[in-house]
Amino acid sequence: MQHQESGWSVGLDIGGTKTLAVLLDPSGTPSGQVRLPTERGAEAVVDTAATAAAQLLTRADLTADDLTGIGIGLPGIVDPVGGRVEHAVNLGIESGVPLAEEVSGALAARLNGRGGSRPVPVRLENDLNAAALGAAHLRGEGGGDLAFLALGTGLAAGLVLDGRLHRGVGGAAGEIGHLVYQPGGRPCPCGQRGCLEQYASGTSLRLAWPGPGDRPAPVALFEAVAAGDEAALAVQREFADAVAAAVRVLLLTADVAHVVIGGGVSELGAPLLQVVRERLDHSARESGFLASMRMAERVDLAPHGVPVGAVGAALVGRKES
Ligand SMILES: [Zn+2]
Repeated sequence: MQHQESGWSVGLDIGGTKTLAVLLDPSGTPSGQVRLPTERGAEAVVDTAATAAAQLLTRADLTADDLTGIGIGLPGIVDPVGGRVEHAVNLGIESGVPLAEEVSGALAARLNGRGGSRPVPVRLENDLNAAALGAAHLRGEGGGDLAFLALGTGLAAGLVLDGRLHRGVGGAAGEIGHLVYQPGGRPCPCGQRGCLEQYASGTSLRLAWPGPGDRPAPVALFEAVAAGDEAALAVQREFADAVAAAVRVLLLTADVAHVVIGGGVSELGAPLLQVVRERLDHSARESGFLASMRMAERVDLAPHGVPVGAVGAALVGRKES
């Protein structure tokens, strides 16, 4: 297959509710975006992916020949080598689907004559891994060491080491949400009790602080803290302690330059970063060793308003994974 090292690429971040597509120019700068609702099932996912990619190409007046490739990040178990999705429950894909090949075919059919002389290569990656690559790239640390900590429905991290994704032998590297944090604590769907995910995820926050239904639980919690609510402060402290524990695990295990916090909860922005840094500083005051690692300085937020996952997927499309 013809491979062009530094052409344009398209990245697709396919989530449970929306599909975000970004066009990356040859210099690696995002230069166009499309957002479409995600519909469930393999056929609908293929259709949406091909539609989004075709729209980006048409708007930028590019043909398929201008593309180095397309990368797709999605929440599930993927076989990056074979281009297959083995399992993606949130997308309604429950058995192996050769998604890469199907998207490539569907795009060629859509471009209808403007498809160029070859099928566009499509590569798949887990969405968290794609986001880790995107975060490293956007920070200008594409060749370095970084962990992307996603605080969403669950808690997990993606690891970029020496500029490359570290997936582990079974693809489970970074699944720190299932480290036991409180022995005998809250039950976890994984079968254990007291998993970190039960204390440091969007879901755990929602359970601990149901709050008013008109705004996201993390926002309601932080507003209550700002208004002086003691119970809210205790919930926030427990949450921040657990997130700080996740950051410590990543820094002590992989000694990455930065832990970048993303996922839905990260939309809280600076107030979230501030409480997590405060809890890291708190633990550093009790330990000269932790203090020497300057952990609070090494944690940061994913850039706001930038589709980190789609940018990372586009890098996967360029084969930079
Ligand atoms: Zn668990």
